[in-house]
Amino acid sequence: MRQGISEELIERILGKPEWTIAGLEEKFPVRNLPEGAMVTRFAPSPTGFMHIGGLYQMLINYKMAKQSGGVFMLRIEDTDTKREVGGAIELILDTAYKFGLMPDERPVFDQKQDMKIVDLPGSKYGPYLQSQRKDIYHSVVAELLAGGAAYPCFLTQAEMEEIRDKQKSSGLPTGIYGEWAKYRDFTEEQILEKMKDLGDDFKPSIRLYSTGNPDQKIFCKDGARGSIGFPENNEDVVLIKSGDDLPTYHFAHLCDDHFMRTTHVVRGEEWLSSLPLHFQLFKMMGWTPPVYVHTSTLDKIDSETGKQRKLSKRHDTEASVSNFLEDGWPTDAVLEYLLNIVSSGYEEDKAKDKSVNLWNYPVKIKKIPMSGALFDMQKLEWWAKEYIGKMNIDDLTAYVIVWGNRYNLEWEKIIKGKEDYLKAMLSIERDNPKRIRKDFITWKQTLSEIEYFWDDLYILNKEFEYNKNVLDAFVRGFDINDSKDTWWNKIIEIANLQDVKNGDVAMNLRAAITGRTNTPDLYSVMQVMGQARVVKRIQQVIG
Ligand code: GLU
Repeated sequence: MRQGISEELIERILGKPEWTIAGLEEKFPVRNLPEGAMVTRFAPSPTGFMHIGGLYQMLINYKMAKQSGGVFMLRIEDTDTKREVGGAIELILDTAYKFGLMPDERPVFDQKQDMKIVDLPGSKYGPYLQSQRKDIYHSVVAELLAGGAAYPCFLTQAEMEEIRDKQKSSGLPTGIYGEWAKYRDFTEEQILEKMKDLGDDFKPSIRLYSTGNPDQKIFCKDGARGSIGFPENNEDVVLIKSGDDLPTYHFAHLCDDHFMRTTHVVRGEEWLSSLPLHFQLFKMMGWTPPVYVHTSTLDKIDSETGKQRKLSKRHDTEASVSNFLEDGWPTDAVLEYLLNIVSSGYEEDKAKDKSVNLWNYPVKIKKIPMSGALFDMQKLEWWAKEYIGKMNIDDLTAYVIVWGNRYNLEWEKIIKGKEDYLKAMLSIERDNPKRIRKDFITWKQTLSEIEYFWDDLYILNKEFEYNKNVLDAFVRGFDINDSKDTWWNKIIEIANLQDVKNGDVAMNLRAAITGRTNTPDLYSVMQVMGQARVVKRIQQVIG
């Protein structure tokens, strides 16, 4: 350790700390939860984009907290002011809300205060926005400065770049460590001198005074991967940044996860390499580290190269959660697929036991995949088809109406007073529980599947080569009250008389009344459309 710096100097650099560490320990007491209850958090940066991998993490965190009787928090990691995007926090909350993964503790917008972000009433471990927690970080770092575990650093951007270049050309690890850390051992006097030179407005960064030795190993435990040996960290990482006074991720997460009393940190595998530093920080503070679980990326098979690769925010539409909402994927089906990735036995267990569902099936830390898990749209389609197939008809109708109202501008006009007609369309081929149609995937696609039922959306098929005699014969004998057998016998009769196949008659009828050559059971379609509509459409074709 180095010699600590004086209270006056700390105040000059950081302002007067609001708390002591002991005071913070009291303010955020250890949670009174039953043994084994997990406290988890989803901690996104507000980038304005919700990646499917973020939803995956949200689900794991939510489940771990819920299944253990614990607490699930949302913490917004907004210390990178350059990356901040308007509306990003709303997007995160909206996603949690729409997927039914609302955190127990979280920030909310307060209407009374012109939408200022405040803590949800009852959330006692906040603020839940890192930018509102400055006083906590400063209070902790003040004690580190006083004890010599941290120091002010005056390196400029240009100097750091120079150091980096030199290290690179000599084949050395890059970073500020050992002899490169020029201000590491500056005395109080030297610091004062430097501050005088730079002027009162200059704020140094605060760096960790690392005592790690990379020739030695530190063993860090990952909940899913087990114990991993890393070289000890010797980098004097930045704890508080110089320009905006905000903490780095490393330091913020240390203070936050400790004082929010997080027991389990589930985060992306890009953080795995920071684990030795994070263990070092917890050890230095004398705090128990949380159980870390690093999730793998969600991948796809690249259609051009045939190789498995990470889902890309820029190139893959399936990387964006907003797209799934806009296309009307049933949110539970998306979650079921993600759950099946996290807990690979879900699909089988659900098939065996009817009582198993998305919300009661547990996530087991040890089973969380550790390397690139495939997120396959075809697999997702299967989950969506199964999900919609099993839905009761009233729910299905309600979902389609709600989605239409939200995303389809024409829809309100179409659906007004026609809810029963919609329900009847959606009911086709759903009466036999063993053979329910499985071609509905998303609400958007469901709407387009049934489009032809609506007179305003039906499109006359001009390409089809109709046999007008067949259509004419049918329309003359058509009676909506006919049983299916009678209806079919009439078709056979027409086929015989006109010397065509039964299937040709059916295909002519199908093309005429739906405009399509592929539809569910034609008799049911006609039953739903009713006598007048069927006749009108056929007559329109006959001309
Ligand atoms: N803000 C970090 C990220 O988005 C959070 C990592 C964590 O969960 O600790 O990657």
